[in-house]
Amino acid sequence: MSAAGEPTFRQSVDILYNRAVAVMDLPPGLEQKIRVCNSTYTVRFGVRLRGKIETFTGYRSVHSEHMEPVKGGIRYAMSVNQDEVEALAALMTYKCALVEAPFGGSKGGLCLDPRDYDEHELEQITRRFAYELIKRDLINPSQNVPAPDMGTGEREMAWIADQYARMNTTDINARACVTGKPLNAGGIQGRVEATGRGVQYALREFFRHPEDKAKAGLSGDLDGKRVIVQGLGNVGSHAARFLSLEDGAKIIGIIERDGGLWNPEGIDVAAVQDWMRANGGVQGFPGATYDANGAVLLERDCDILVPAALEGVINLSNADRIRAPLIIEAANGPVTSGADEILRKKGCVIIPDMYANAGGVTVSYFEWVKNLSHIRFGRMQRRQEEARHQLLIDELERLSADKGLGWTLSPGFKEQYLKGADELELVRSGLDDTMRAAYQSMRETWHGRDDVTDLRMAAYIVAIDRVAKSYRAKGL
Ligand code: NAD
Repeated sequence: MSAAGEPTFRQSVDILYNRAVAVMDLPPGLEQKIRVCNSTYTVRFGVRLRGKIETFTGYRSVHSEHMEPVKGGIRYAMSVNQDEVEALAALMTYKCALVEAPFGGSKGGLCLDPRDYDEHELEQITRRFAYELIKRDLINPSQNVPAPDMGTGEREMAWIADQYARMNTTDINARACVTGKPLNAGGIQGRVEATGRGVQYALREFFRHPEDKAKAGLSGDLDGKRVIVQGLGNVGSHAARFLSLEDGAKIIGIIERDGGLWNPEGIDVAAVQDWMRANGGVQGFPGATYDANGAVLLERDCDILVPAALEGVINLSNADRIRAPLIIEAANGPVTSGADEILRKKGCVIIPDMYANAGGVTVSYFEWVKNLSHIRFGRMQRRQEEARHQLLIDELERLSADKGLGWTLSPGFKEQYLKGADELELVRSGLDDTMRAAYQSMRETWHGRDDVTDLRMAAYIVAIDRVAKSYRAKGL
């Protein structure tokens, strides 16, 4: 996919890192210490499937242990290799620092196409991979906590959690060894939607700042904005659904593995998902025109481009044809360092991956805290909150009656006001707060310094500065 001369994913991350540290004042040697990946464990293991032993290769890379546990998803894809896992682990370090999740950075991957195996086979493979990582403390509630990524989800996380519990029968915090679990296995409300929800909150925050919108030549809010989304998996489908259903954005293009869909009037995202489930791809979907070469839709006219599939899709071969004035990197590394430079020169604003898709790790952090505290968020306060609100409403109604004021509360107000927050509402509120605060720290650096040209550079500076402070506090 990459044009000739394109750096690898890890090199691309390092190039973008180097741009930022060039304008920072780090002590000698610390710049390299933060950039390098601390360790990458490679494991090859066999699983007996369909009468013969199949050998798999997996990785768990730890980029930075300035805070522990380290955190990062596990990816199942044929493209998984050491370079990719290390690039993703590095991004996790910066991402956690940027959104102030108290973790170091890590990432894992298994080189396989999950569609080639049935559920039972995937369980055997996952449990065996987990066993290899657990016995080396590369999965551990206090040292290394994975989560879902491309090709994995709640189901795989539940298998991993169970495998850890079987191998650590006396660990009371066993459930905190992995996040993104189903609710009944210690998960948290709102984790599945979290990364897509975070993309929505990031865009909402961007559109709150007229100066920032102006840089992309945009105005107004998300209502009516024309959006192209690549990848209708966990991240892309949630982002597209929330943006269209809740913010009035119009999804005019959808790009999937087998091609792209186009409809300037807007595409019903949930209907495409149903179609994909039934037919295995987007081809033939009745509500849009189909193009077998989906990648060309990245180059179409739109207001917001949301690459939410995989890395390297906007590269030296197509960057100069990208017309979107605003790109939000829902996937990790969708824009290569070379493409980043071309797009910057064209005036395109890029909301960088380490911020844009941080919703997942943010809610993972909430899940980990929930597991360690062994209590669901809101359980202690909810009814007490409702009782206090009830007191206020009763008092208002009494006053109105006593004084003959004839006050009536607006329809629906009472129900809404009286209802105490449940776990999902608390998670969304915590996520929104995190995304707003992180955006504001980026934009302060973006607008506050003459040598900072873009949001990505600002994001790196904020993140690296926090990691550096943490190293300094340790005396390094
Ligand atoms: P997923 O496996 O659920 O979805 C990926 C989607 O992309 C699938 O629908 C797949 O068919 C599609 N796809 C694959 N190759 C494609 C191609 N060449 N063109 C178009 N579509 C293609 O994965 P996900 O969890 O949604 O992750 C997507 C991206 O978001 C990855 O870069 C991942 O690292 C990043 N991310 C995920 C999370 C999370 O919580 N899941 C968190 C942060 C970042």
